[in-house]
Amino acid sequence: VSCMAENRLPPGVVYRPVSEEEVGTYPQVSYRFLPKPCMQCDDPPCVPACPYEATWKRKDGIVEIDYALCVGCEKCIPACPYGSRHKDDGYFWTENTPGQGKMPYEGLPVYEWGKKTTRDEEAGPMDKVRKCHFCLHRIERGLLPQCVTTCIGRATYFGDLEDPSSLVAELIKQPNVMRLKEEAGTQPRVYYLV
Ligand code: SF4
Ligand code: SF4
Repeated sequence: VSCMAENRLPPGVVYRPVSEEEVGTYPQVSYRFLPKPCMQCDDPPCVPACPYEATWKRKDGIVEIDYALCVGCEKCIPACPYGSRHKDDGYFWTENTPGQGKMPYEGLPVYEWGKKTTRDEEAGPMDKVRKCHFCLHRIERGLLPQCVTTCIGRATYFGDLEDPSSLVAELIKQPNVMRLKEEAGTQPRVYYLV
């Protein structure tokens, strides 16, 4: 929810879905929750799928989308094995109400990819493909991603794996670490402690 508020996400666009599944055998059962942001893959198949060079891997590892170059053709969506890309089809949460698109929050600027835009301007996200960016606009200012700061279970960590003194570098040495769909060869940068 905090991710949706931070990035002013419209209906149909979700950057950090959380799936849930029942594990165990009755009566020893519990729920397992799995948040799935963009994995910021080291070898991202979404990038070569784009015919317009509107998406690329940055030097810091984050896979960027330039809304000014994206034409919303959606060719990158099926290329992502994690379902992390969604088209902003221009819907509002106030769809089919008299206030459609007129609520004050609907016109507020977005700060994605380090740029200030409104949703419907040419270089804005409407009619483009969108995805999680690890809250780039926050981490460039020394803040943690919004999902990390608001996780009431304190279940999410963020940091620089190449810094051996970082907490994430320490955590990744544990034996219970896994990544999703390793067989796809994408080298995801999101790790799970199971
Ligand atoms: S939707 Fe945008 S980022 Fe995706 S393939 Fe088309 S132009 Fe590239
Ligand atoms: S998770 Fe999907 S959208 Fe994100 S970098 Fe990997 S292939 Fe691209």
